[in-house]
Amino acid sequence: MKSRWLTGALRFASTCAFGVVLQSGASAAASLRGDVFVVDPGHGTKFPDGTPLNVGAVGPGGLQEEQVALEVGEDLAALLRAAGAKVVLTRSHAVPFRIATDKRLDNRARAALANRLGATAFVAIHCDSSLEPSAHGTSIFWLRPNSVSLANAVRARLRPLDLGEAAFHARDLAVTSEARVPAVLVELGFVSNRHDAALLAAPAFQKREAQALFNAIADTFAR
Ligand SMILES: [Zn+2]
Repeated sequence: MKSRWLTGALRFASTCAFGVVLQSGASAAASLRGDVFVVDPGHGTKFPDGTPLNVGAVGPGGLQEEQVALEVGEDLAALLRAAGAKVVLTRSHAVPFRIATDKRLDNRARAALANRLGATAFVAIHCDSSLEPSAHGTSIFWLRPNSVSLANAVRARLRPLDLGEAAFHARDLAVTSEARVPAVLVELGFVSNRHDAALLAAPAFQKREAQALFNAIADTFAR
């Protein structure tokens, strides 16, 4: 009886410790060291002459998907780097636009980069849009079985943000079909929905989305 109680107590203690690790940048720093992540803020692609090729959705209030994706992508990259990981952004504050002549090929190239680097995972960040203003919530897509754990972790970590869930299923997209490494595409919410858009536009909420994605990555890959 005594040893069983002790085992239970130890298990409880280690569960608590794990919870602390996820909250603490210092502890997490060791755990993602050596990992490489490709973070892909969706859209933001121009033709070589500077005209838009892939701008993404724009909400009725003017909120741009490509800008929200870039902010959350940069926030996520900062969290991953603070945890010791290497991060490659497919576009960034420094280079906010990609140059291409074909949207689908450009999207495939983003995931191909993750394959080439042998990345631990590829995370594509988007926002949704619908002609139906009441459509709202997050969506998570993946394709290959090696991505299911990450997809489940992202789902669990986004749930407390209370946006609701629009979709969660395997889906053959340019990035999910190209990626051979674990890969998810996350829609952070709908720019076309008034409630979602107000949250998505707020830097503090963008940071909460990034933190949720980081926690999901740490849940899945941290050692
Ligand atoms: Zn998109």
